[in-house]
Amino acid sequence: MSVKTRFAPSPTGYLHVGGARTALYSWLHAKANEGQFVLRIEDTDLERSTPEAVEAILDGMKWLELDWDEGPIFQTKRFERYKTVIQQLVQQGDAYPCFCSRERLDELRERQKANKQKARYDGKCRHLEDSDIDLTQDHVIRFKNPEDGEVTFKDVVKGEITIANKELDDLIIARTDGSPTYNFTVVVDDMDMGITQVIRGDDHVNNTPRQINIFKALGANVPDYGHVPMILGDDGKKLSKRHGAVSVMQYRDDGYLPQAVLNYLVRLGWSHGDQEVFSVSEMIELFDVNAINKAPSAFNTQKLNWLNQHYIKLSTKEELMPHLQWHLKNANISLEQGPDIGELIPEFAERVQTLKDIVAVIKPYYSDFDNFDEKAAKKHLRPVAFEPLTVIRAKLANLDSWSSDALQQAIDQTAAELEIGMGKVGMPLRVAITGAGMSPSLDITLKWVGKERSLNRVDKALSFISERAKTTE
Ligand code: GLU
Repeated sequence: MSVKTRFAPSPTGYLHVGGARTALYSWLHAKANEGQFVLRIEDTDLERSTPEAVEAILDGMKWLELDWDEGPIFQTKRFERYKTVIQQLVQQGDAYPCFCSRERLDELRERQKANKQKARYDGKCRHLEDSDIDLTQDHVIRFKNPEDGEVTFKDVVKGEITIANKELDDLIIARTDGSPTYNFTVVVDDMDMGITQVIRGDDHVNNTPRQINIFKALGANVPDYGHVPMILGDDGKKLSKRHGAVSVMQYRDDGYLPQAVLNYLVRLGWSHGDQEVFSVSEMIELFDVNAINKAPSAFNTQKLNWLNQHYIKLSTKEELMPHLQWHLKNANISLEQGPDIGELIPEFAERVQTLKDIVAVIKPYYSDFDNFDEKAAKKHLRPVAFEPLTVIRAKLANLDSWSSDALQQAIDQTAAELEIGMGKVGMPLRVAITGAGMSPSLDITLKWVGKERSLNRVDKALSFISERAKTTE
């Protein structure tokens, strides 16, 4: 039987990294087996589902390049189908109308609570005579869960799980207004779509026995299940906004590459020996649902940063640009008036972990800055720097060729003429040119910034020193 998996998010917020990880595992399992991957939007909760959340899910999936073979299929477009299946279950005696009032159910629950029993429906309407059934009265439809026996399934992550049917009550599959409920729609969809493997968060593990019983009543093949443990924050609690970014698109905004996020997520709960770095094709080749960890994993931003830096270093300019472009645009940087960015990135790669870091370090080469970095200026733009900066400015202004060699020579000569160390020229010049105390070697830095801009910036530094001197007199 060919493999078919699905990702079935409820569009009630952003695409959470936990959701993205189960999507990735399902996607990989399909790809690894030359199967199909379905994207299904579980939007039957009309109050909580929003079009923005649907967009956020689609954006996240597209950004991660988790492409789907079918979908997006919206459950709200399938209400007629659910109605038909509900009728079928009623007709074959596997579902029944229940007329119990809210008051009765509340009372029942209170009584069970007082007797320390598990809250469950007592089956009152399960045995109604036809003559007692008046479908014009308000009613829900309940699934007739088997009363005896047990449900057993072999979870690929957690191992064999068995639940006695006694533990499961008769689940509502259609509400009073006729709308179908979650556990039921999932089964109808997984059945209709021919899903062979359900990989999802382990918050659904308690739903599975109920879903299996519905599959059986419908005479459908029961898929295999794999329930993935949740992701924890660094404090051992369930990963939430409190721990930092949890939305996939926030990672894009924070300057991560999709490959780094995918690589990070695949390792968060799955391993292949001690290998840390996986290209997408390697993931497809090596991923094995049977090797998903049973224990929850904790999110580690440092490791994600390390991977992101790794992919930044590994990427060619052509690979990086589409991702970087978005951040450049956000920071209002145009690459037109400046050096080839392909030369800059390798120079900075050891120092940057995110695309946002890249934007911050390359900015001075493409646009003027308003202020010098406070700390760097305090240290290097002092009155003693006035003379070296004046001398180097004159030399730079006279250069015919703005080449690395010529620039280096001008710096060397300045230090020699003034009989001062190279640092006494270099550091003030660096702060003058880039606004900050760190940059690649000065000849390259000056070359990238260009003659006119460099001279203007030295002038700006000279005025800064004079102004400072006046105010501190
Ligand atoms: N819609 C469910 C959720 O977002 C997932 C259902 C499933 O994967 O079976 O939690």
